[in-house]
Amino acid sequence: MAPQPFLNNSLVPWSDLDIPSGANSFCNICRWAGESFDSPPHSEGSHCPSCGSIARERFLHWSWIRSWVPVEGARVIENSPRLGEGYRTMMSRALHYRGSDYDERAHQADIQLDLQDIDLPTSSLDVVLSTHVLEHVPNTGRALRELHRVLAPGGVVVLQVPLAEPTTKPPDSPEFHADDTPVFWRFGFDLADQLSDAGFVVETQVTERLTRAVASGAWPPAGEPADGPIDPATQAIVRSGRGRVLTGVMTDEEARLLGVGPDHMFVTWVATVTPDSKRLHRTAPSRVRGACRRIPKWLRRSIQAVLP
Ligand SMILES: [Zn+2]
Repeated sequence: MAPQPFLNNSLVPWSDLDIPSGANSFCNICRWAGESFDSPPHSEGSHCPSCGSIARERFLHWSWIRSWVPVEGARVIENSPRLGEGYRTMMSRALHYRGSDYDERAHQADIQLDLQDIDLPTSSLDVVLSTHVLEHVPNTGRALRELHRVLAPGGVVVLQVPLAEPTTKPPDSPEFHADDTPVFWRFGFDLADQLSDAGFVVETQVTERLTRAVASGAWPPAGEPADGPIDPATQAIVRSGRGRVLTGVMTDEEARLLGVGPDHMFVTWVATVTPDSKRLHRTAPSRVRGACRRIPKWLRRSIQAVLP
C-alpha cells in the first residue's frame, strides 16, 4: 500500500513549522524532512518524496498560512487540487474543505464550478485557493468579481498563475498546458491591478531574493551568483516589477529548504475582501463600477473608502 503521510500526523496546515535541525529539505505541507527532493528545482518540480507536492504548492501554503488567521470549520474551496486523497483528508480535518473543477477531464474534484459564474451564494466562502487555474479562464475580470462576491468579508483568495509576461496579454499562438487545457492569458505583475479593480485589497508575495532582483533591475540580484542562464524574456519580467509593491515572504534559506526556485517562477497574490468593498459591491454595483472606470485610480480608491 502506498504511504499516506498526512494520515499519520495530527498537524493542520497552519501549525507552527517545526523544521528539524539538520534537515536539508523540508515539505511544509506534509512535514517531510530529508536530504533532497525527488526532482530538480522548478515551480513544477522539487517533488516531495512523501506527499508528492511540488514547489509552487508549498509556496502557496506558505503564503496562505502567513496571511490568514485560521478559523476552525472555515469554508475553503481549492480550484483543481493536484494532490490526492491524503492531502484532502488532512485539509478536511479542521476545515470545511472542497475541491472544485471546471473541466473534469484533468482532475476529479468534489464540485464543478465555472469561475466566471460561480454557482454558490454570496459570502458563502472564507478561502479560495487557486493555483495555475486563472490563465485557463477566458474572462478574468468576471471571474475575479465572482470570487469577490462569493467570499465573505475577511475572506481571501490565494492566487497563483505562471508569471509569463511583463504585461498581461493573450498568447500569440494557441497555447495548451500539459493536461490539454487552453491558455487564454499570460499574466504579469499587473494582475494585482485587476484584483484591485474587482474590489480586493491585494498583496503580491514573492521570495526575498526576487524583491532584491527587482530592486536591482535584473536576475540574479546585484552581487549574487546566477543559478543558471536567464533568458531575455525572464529579465523583462523581473524589470517589470519595478515600481510595484512586492512583499518578500520567504528568506533565501527558507526557499532553499522548501525547494522553491528559481525565484522568478514564484508569485502568490493574496487578495482580501474587506467589509467596505463588500458593502460597495452590494450597494449599487453597476452604477458604482461604471462610474469608477472613468476616474483615475487614486481617486477611485478614495471614493471607495468613503462610500457607504
Ligand atoms: Zn510533502
